[in-house]
Amino acid sequence: MKIHNFSAGPCVLPREVILKASEALLDFDNGLSLIEISHRSKAFVDVMEKARSLALELLGLEGKGYKALFLQGGASMQFLQVALNLLEKRAGYLNTGAWSDKAIKEAKLFDDIYEVGSSKDAGYNYIPRGYDIPSDYDYFHCTSNNTIYGTQIRQFPKCDIPMVCDMSSDIFSRSLDFSQFDLIYAGAQKNMGPAGTTLVIVKEDILGKVSRKIPSMMDYKVHIGKSSMFNTPPVFAVYTSMLTMEWLKNLGGIKAIEEENEKKASLMYSEIDLNPLFKGYAAKEDRSKMNATFTLLNEDLKETFDTMCKEEGISGINGHRSVGGYRASMYNALSLDSVKVLVEVMSELESKA
Ligand SMILES: *Cc1c(COP(=O)(O)O)cnc(C)c1O
Repeated sequence: MKIHNFSAGPCVLPREVILKASEALLDFDNGLSLIEISHRSKAFVDVMEKARSLALELLGLEGKGYKALFLQGGASMQFLQVALNLLEKRAGYLNTGAWSDKAIKEAKLFDDIYEVGSSKDAGYNYIPRGYDIPSDYDYFHCTSNNTIYGTQIRQFPKCDIPMVCDMSSDIFSRSLDFSQFDLIYAGAQKNMGPAGTTLVIVKEDILGKVSRKIPSMMDYKVHIGKSSMFNTPPVFAVYTSMLTMEWLKNLGGIKAIEEENEKKASLMYSEIDLNPLFKGYAAKEDRSKMNATFTLLNEDLKETFDTMCKEEGISGINGHRSVGGYRASMYNALSLDSVKVLVEVMSELESKA
């Protein structure tokens, strides 16, 4: 049976990427496995360089003063690494979900953090608007897509100070002017590859401005100086991420995948809105094109719905434990057909009820 993987992360990857990655596990370089060769070998150095340049190319940031790094520690480590490298006195954070909240908590360990806006009181079901970002702050931090609540920032604020964005769950999914950001980070496991590496894209000229001493492993400048090879990189995660970026490039890049993602999201949300059994969680104007969150209004139907989903091979649609209900994550590698299958089950439930 075909499985339709709606998991929020780690999540679905293109089948051809998984096949190529598994071949590399067996034989990558003259009979040696990808995970048993030196990361200093030419074969792997080429992979790292390709991955770094593809990331900049896909985002349209080549030749604009940015560097791409593949680091470890997940997006969660970026919560503190960003602060260590950029926070001198005060920074502004937009609090749009549990991940933003964690970023704030970590940064507060180092200096003063001001929440420019928050939707915490409303269970993070919308994106705050009309907030000010003081121009004397060190940087502004936001989360482009809130994986748990299913909200997404459409319009980013005009910002006179460096803008830092956690794009873990919507990187490479939609076209934006990425040069409005000075630092972008994304854990690989939502839209790029397996867990184990984090993409960091940083504009070099924002670095080196804080007075604190930064431990080497935490210092972006050290990683840039060593071409993202300061220590042993997570070779499998970087290689697989590179394959996914190649897959995306061959499809026609972000523009092409964005059209697919629009189709998937509009099919999904029109079912949520038209089917009287379901209700969307996020404010309509802020709905995420990656993670659709919704609830079943009549709990008595839950067992039936869950069984029907299971019978169709639908996997991973349970909502995050803090929100409940359902969450259909529609990352780049999820096909429109998978969304059609889910939508059909939802409408079949309606006809049965
Ligand atoms: C999943 C997620 C994280 C956490 O990523 P880790 O790699 O597990 O640390 C951070 N931010 C967002 C927006 C996420 O979706």
